[in-house]
Amino acid sequence: MVTTKQSELDKIKRTLIESHITPDLAAGATQLVFGEGSPDADIVFIGEAPGKNEDLTGKPFVGAAGKFLDELLKIIGLNREDVYITNIVKYRPPNNRDPLPLEKEAFLPYLMEQLEVIKPKLIVTLGRHSLNCFLPGLQISSCHGRPKRYQGQVYLPLFHPAAALYNGSMRQVLIEDFELIPNILSKLN
Ligand code: URA
Repeated sequence: MVTTKQSELDKIKRTLIESHITPDLAAGATQLVFGEGSPDADIVFIGEAPGKNEDLTGKPFVGAAGKFLDELLKIIGLNREDVYITNIVKYRPPNNRDPLPLEKEAFLPYLMEQLEVIKPKLIVTLGRHSLNCFLPGLQISSCHGRPKRYQGQVYLPLFHPAAALYNGSMRQVLIEDFELIPNILSKLN
């Protein structure tokens, strides 16, 4: 059988489901939200955890924050099929509470495997949970929009699109930070 990046990702997803990590989260969720997009993407976006719409559809970022993410991608001439989108935690936390440290730790090895398959040039962290999984100790308010190389990987920390939904100035910050992406990527190529 030919091994493709997609088949490797499918295998990680199966292993993750069968591993029964975070059984409490799994019991309260409709399904695992693994991630979607191109397995050959140069950019991977990593959010926090699925919300209600993501839990129901099995796809990441399809609710209000996801619609804004789609808009941001469009501004830089991309769509969801050009990138890969996933979350740290892959089952919806009850009532959209913040993921617990132990839940983030449990999912991290699988996220690392996903990234090992995709090998993106740029990882864009969305929000502080995602930021601190990769670049611990950094404050999003001071490091957003500044690419950072760490252990051979380039990261771009951004605010979470949900933070901008009801905040016009935050919306503008996210748009401006997003507009940096093409230039960062061309420097990496
Ligand atoms: N917020 C996230 O962090 N991830 C999603 O998939 C949706 C909303």
